[in-house]
Amino acid sequence: MRRKIQMPLKNRRIYLDNASTTKPYPELIELYKRISDDYFANPSSIHFEGQKAHDLLEKSRGVILDALHLEKEHEVIFTSGATESINLGIKGYCLQNKNRGKHIISSAIEHPAVKESIQQLVDCFDFEAIFLPVDKNGKVSLDDLKAAIREDTILVSIMAVNNEIGSINPIEDIAKLLKDYPKIVFHVDATQAIGKINLNYQDVDMISFSGHKIHGLHSSGALIKKKKITLLPINSGGGQENGFRSGTNDLPLAVTLAKAVKLEQDKIDENKRDLSAKSAYLLEYLNNHKDLYHLNSTGENPFIVNFSLKTKKASVVVEALSNRGIMVSSISACHSRKEAISDTVFELTKDVNLAHNTVRVSFDSNNTLEEVKILVEELDNIIKEIKQ
Ligand code: PLP
Repeated sequence: MRRKIQMPLKNRRIYLDNASTTKPYPELIELYKRISDDYFANPSSIHFEGQKAHDLLEKSRGVILDALHLEKEHEVIFTSGATESINLGIKGYCLQNKNRGKHIISSAIEHPAVKESIQQLVDCFDFEAIFLPVDKNGKVSLDDLKAAIREDTILVSIMAVNNEIGSINPIEDIAKLLKDYPKIVFHVDATQAIGKINLNYQDVDMISFSGHKIHGLHSSGALIKKKKITLLPINSGGGQENGFRSGTNDLPLAVTLAKAVKLEQDKIDENKRDLSAKSAYLLEYLNNHKDLYHLNSTGENPFIVNFSLKTKKASVVVEALSNRGIMVSSISACHSRKEAISDTVFELTKDVNLAHNTVRVSFDSNNTLEEVKILVEELDNIIKEIKQ
């Protein structure tokens, strides 16, 4: 059961939970309204207004592909977000291609959308899967991957950036390795990477992400895939999105998603530079108090800092921070309705206490150093004040 969290006592709001979701940019909300008004016709209608909407929808696909330098071989399927993209990519591909093989490789610290999609294929459709372990930095090893490949492997799904600890996988190297295995399709959950980490996706076959993680609107996302890949549609119906995802298109969401991808991809280097000093401030404090905190992040990704409390309960500390107007998360928002441990931190530490008491601070370019200093000060106070 989720505990009722009270209204913060202080009149301030410091939002440091950007890996859960980001605040939509006001210009994107405006854009959504304007497109809803000016382009309300159904892009599938053949009249002039429908054609106008259709052209803008196609242009939006182009903006996304262009921002990711994927103009030639890939295409965009608009979805309601990463979860849907991942389900469509993984299940759609495996079910459509099951005659080619029934073995899947993934990692032990994937988001549940990936793990559960694969598990369903195992439980209900006789697939076999291996979830590779990760090293102490939360990364998959190329040797492990190579050793796991079988004659009947048809899919490898590895996340670009882990949502809990921010570890970055060697996606480009994995893609290069898999080029020697033409039967295998490589899917990347890039939800925490798009707009944040510079990656070359050229040799990646399928890429999933959400708009709300990059200041876009909720329920927007896309599956980008190589055109030659065939999928069994999960949504059957009127044949929109090349038949892969039926249902009347939400053009305003598609347009805002394209704009969000473009805005954030263009700012990656600037954001990274900007954020490094801020996350370094928190990392320094945590490193100076090793008796209290166990660091689960390496610091290579300035967007996410994850640590475990050695002597206190994370839920109590997160609540106390919330009472003081500071929003961070414990485990991952996707799990927080059940009493759970972080699979990711458990995989790294093999320590239930550390895995149960994780705190994730996730930054955004709009956060200031002043806000991080307040977080550190309040965290330090709380740790000294609370008993649990
Ligand atoms: N994959 C990763 C790495 C995520 O961080 C998330 C959300 O936290 C998802 C997938 C699912 O995204 P959504 O809830 O937007 O569908």
